[in-house]
Amino acid sequence: GQKELTNLNALAEEFLRLSYQSFLAKEPEFKCELKTDLASDLPQVSVIPQDIGKVLLNLINNAFYAVNEKANSTPKDYKPEVTVKTTKTKSPLGDSRLPDGQVGVEISVQDNGSGIPDSIKEKIFQPFFTTKPTGSGTGLGLSLSYDIIKAHGGELKVESEERKGTIFIIQFTNL
Ligand code: ADP
Ligand code: MG
Repeated sequence: GQKELTNLNALAEEFLRLSYQSFLAKEPEFKCELKTDLASDLPQVSVIPQDIGKVLLNLINNAFYAVNEKANSTPKDYKPEVTVKTTKTKSPLGDSRLPDGQVGVEISVQDNGSGIPDSIKEKIFQPFFTTKPTGSGTGLGLSLSYDIIKAHGGELKVESEERKGTIFIIQFTNL
């Protein structure tokens, strides 16, 4: 793949639907509300679209797995949701570590699923780390995603609270 100026809003919508279709193929009973919150002024980003698509597929698939797990273990009033959001960011003026007002782009995948226990947060980006049963996960999704985002000069961050949910944030600053 080659880097090309890419509309991440279009990529986000495409991969949210693609991921849902492929998850439904394995779990026909699965129901989840898909939400998007896409910035209308989002600058295009120079990325390898197939690679960022792979990352989105991994993150969204993990999100579906986490809400499905919670749906199978909590009361009926639980409503699974996965939200993909894009944001145009600007570094704060006067932050000595960053050029004043540098524009960036963030894309996040949020779920209201099982969350990640503190005891394993340090390990999730390691190759082959998985909490999924054999056959359901290779443990390679996040380590591969991390490498892809780093190779693009970006950052991949996670915030999670057990039983509440998880958000993975991809940040690009060198547009
Ligand atoms: P795999 O999906 O094959 O297990 P990943 O590298 O994609 O491998 O994820 C590693 C582990 O991180 C998962 O097994 C799970 O424990 C945890 N994890 C990743 N994403 C989420 C999420 N959205 N919610 C809860 N746990 C997650
Ligand atoms: Mg995975």
